[in-house]
Amino acid sequence: MPNKLRHDYKPQPQAKDLKSSSRSSVTQFFNKVANFWSAQTHAVRGILGLSLLSIICIFAWPEKNEALDVPLSLVSNGQEVNLELDLPTRSESEDTPEALQVTQNYSATETDLLIKVKSGDTLGELFTKNNLSYSDMLSIIENEEAKKYLTRMKPGEQIAVNTSDDKGHIQTLNYEIDVENTLVIERYAENKFSTEIKTTPLDVRTAYAHGVIKDSLFLAGKDAGLSDSLVMNLAGIFQWDIDFVSNIRKNDSFTVIYEQLWRDGEYLKNGKILGAEFINDGDVFHAIRFVDENDDGNYYSPDGKSMKKAFLRAPIAFSPRVTSSFNPKRFHPVLKTTRPHRGVDYGGPMNTPILAAGDGKVIFRGRKGSYGNTVILQHGGNITTLYAHLNKFNGKVKSGSRVKQGQTIGYLGRTGRVTGKHLHYEYRLNGVHRNPRTVKLPNAKPLPQKYKTDFEKIMKPLLAQLDVIKRANVINAENVSSTSSNSASAQ
Ligand SMILES: [Zn+2]
Repeated sequence: MPNKLRHDYKPQPQAKDLKSSSRSSVTQFFNKVANFWSAQTHAVRGILGLSLLSIICIFAWPEKNEALDVPLSLVSNGQEVNLELDLPTRSESEDTPEALQVTQNYSATETDLLIKVKSGDTLGELFTKNNLSYSDMLSIIENEEAKKYLTRMKPGEQIAVNTSDDKGHIQTLNYEIDVENTLVIERYAENKFSTEIKTTPLDVRTAYAHGVIKDSLFLAGKDAGLSDSLVMNLAGIFQWDIDFVSNIRKNDSFTVIYEQLWRDGEYLKNGKILGAEFINDGDVFHAIRFVDENDDGNYYSPDGKSMKKAFLRAPIAFSPRVTSSFNPKRFHPVLKTTRPHRGVDYGGPMNTPILAAGDGKVIFRGRKGSYGNTVILQHGGNITTLYAHLNKFNGKVKSGSRVKQGQTIGYLGRTGRVTGKHLHYEYRLNGVHRNPRTVKLPNAKPLPQKYKTDFEKIMKPLLAQLDVIKRANVINAENVSSTSSNSASAQ
């Protein structure tokens, strides 16, 4: 149950006390202004007042994407809705890609040594290379937990070490396991170390953005302060309804409410998208995230339909490019005869991940004549899908394995009878080949009926908030354009 509370819209604390620090100097300034004011004649006051008013108008005009920290009230479907929108202002750091990287708990200035793990490094090598005591290392990994984490470090990760002398004896050693947990090792006696995992809970804040597409979705996302990965996620949610490759129009728009993860007052990275609206070519789509006890979250339309279909249209990572279409009367380029092409070919770089189009079971994995390295999946509804010419398989996906939609099953290649590297993809319904690009795809499971009430408690306020954010941005955009045209006509 508390699982679902994650969606409840909680106003987040803001740095409102920033203003108070400069209060005394502001008071002094206003006292001086008041004295000056009372010394002037009526005519001078009039001129000064007008100039002051226009200066205030210029500087206080609302900027696009300004934080909505005032309660907004609006009329929606004839009903007045009062919304306390207390969303955090987007921070500067979000725009810088560096901020997306996991920040370490420690920095080089606070420790003797910050050691970065390189590909192929073992813990022993790291100690030897950095002149650290090898016997201390052995004592440290006597602890099972320390051993578990320190012997599985990945390239790019770091350990921070404090030495107690110039012989490389360890005083403390810190390793950041993940954004929330740090392994802390400390000497308490000769050859004795304590091991502890320190947890700093993440602060989950809610943020929002609105954008209008002028050139591309990514540029509009950037203008709205969104990272590329968040824009990818946004497109991923709507990919079954909107063709992001060929059908994005100028003036399409999006509004998104999403989580930001902070630690110790420091921005770490974006979290999940909680709700989003996308307007494509005049069609309005909404998606709301809902978590039930059986999964880690799915997106539904307000009427409870899954945003997903049971199958991906194109089972290949990154923007798919069709190199040969489904064609029952195709002239085969290698065999030089008319041979039906019962699938779709997708081009892409060597080893592009190939994804399971839907949840299912692997019924074939291996070499299959002219198909080369091939995977065949059996899905519900008597559907099978086939993926051919793979360079290699995902080692974890074996014959008989269950796979989830979007899971990598292999990598694009040129095995079998081919003229060049590509994926050949087939979709069969009741044993009959169908065109994977046009076949009507079955719907994914809708929201289970028993969650309807819980879903509505999350969905209704999110929809209202999306609407407020959109309207506020549209009003701002109109104001900006009307002021600029006014100033142009005055010159
Ligand atoms: Zn083909």
